[in-house]
Amino acid sequence: MSASCIFCRIVAGEIPAEVVAREPEVVAFLDVQPLADGHVLVVPRAHAACIEDMKPAEIDALFRAVTRLAGPVRKALGAAGTTIGINNGEATGQTIPHVHVHIVPRWPDDGAGSIHTIFPRRTSKSLADVGKAIRAASGD
Ligand code: AMP
Ligand code: ZN
Repeated sequence: MSASCIFCRIVAGEIPAEVVAREPEVVAFLDVQPLADGHVLVVPRAHAACIEDMKPAEIDALFRAVTRLAGPVRKALGAAGTTIGINNGEATGQTIPHVHVHIVPRWPDDGAGSIHTIFPRRTSKSLADVGKAIRAASGD
């Protein structure tokens, strides 16, 4: 636990949150400034700033919890779907450096866009070059 981390403190019960699930490795609670009714944050109990810092078992538990909660969140709010996303690193807009998965209920004509709408598509490299670089960085 990081004493200065607000999400570690929510996990520890030191500061209040509207908790919707408590599991051995994961806690889920409502975002205090929701993008839509039912906006949930799912966090690992173990502090990690970004997903690359997490252990495989922690990642498994986190995404199992996200998958398990997606249906109940949608059902509880009468939503048509959910947008699920992670701001992974400060440069992406991540404001709290403790991994959290956003689950945001969605409705037709709710005025929000898809994940595609956040990017201006400023690409310059070929798919082949990018694929090669990522495979090399992965050690393949
Ligand atoms: P991100 O920009 O991905 O780091 O998102 C952080 C989210 O945490 C924002 O949507 C905030 O509204 C939310 N947040 C910040 N503090 C709290 C808190 N004490 N309880 C619940 N949600 C919070
Ligand atoms: Zn933390």
